[in-house]
Amino acid sequence: MAEPVIDVRATGVAEQEWESWRRARAPMTLPAWSRLFVMAAHPDDEVLGAGGLIAMARTAGIPVTIVTATDGEGSHPDSLTHGPARLARLRVHEARSAARELKTEDPVRLGFPDGELATHESRLGDRLCALLEEADEARVGCAVIWRHDGHPDHEALGRAGAAACAVTGAELLEYPVWMWQWGDPEHPRLQAEMPVALALSPAAREAKNRALTCFRSQFLPLSDAPADQPIVPAHVLRRFTGPTEIYFR
Ligand SMILES: [Zn+2]
Repeated sequence: MAEPVIDVRATGVAEQEWESWRRARAPMTLPAWSRLFVMAAHPDDEVLGAGGLIAMARTAGIPVTIVTATDGEGSHPDSLTHGPARLARLRVHEARSAARELKTEDPVRLGFPDGELATHESRLGDRLCALLEEADEARVGCAVIWRHDGHPDHEALGRAGAAACAVTGAELLEYPVWMWQWGDPEHPRLQAEMPVALALSPAAREAKNRALTCFRSQFLPLSDAPADQPIVPAHVLRRFTGPTEIYFR
């Protein structure tokens, strides 16, 4: 099977096609978790993929812990205006603002190097496992990025998160991020999956969209320079603002 190619300039599958695919998925209801963890590789994955789930869990009184494996310092590697340290500060601040919009606490930062999660996968799995174990709650839900999302950090986080859930008994959900850009409903990677669709309440959708606006460093240009162009341009961002979220389980 060919490896997915992530090209943010590509038009990709028409949003209507994804929308009818999403509508045909089995519905998911919010489980009665005593705590939900949402694991991200980079600050913003958690809101792009699971912001609506976080908002709905909070409305239902479920505490949510967001965990970011890296500070996202590698998003603009050739930028002359924003070096890694500045980007990390910016992105940590953005993720905290977004968490406030979703009525949850500051993300737990693990500080792994951006772009190198696969190298540190077993240590990452241990850290995630320890966090799930420390929670000591009756019924823990854990949303991680889909292990076939097509980005090496995302896939490493997905595998490490799934392994941590298998050890601790946390209920695993996997959310896609880049799939919407490189994939299509007929893609072989999707054929083995049984995705479910969470219909977002209007309030959850609004909270998610407010949280998304916090990530200006990713969705807007840092400057006019070519190396400072958005990582998630408007036509890609639109894929995350609809009325449903998709989860693999
Ligand atoms: Zn990411």
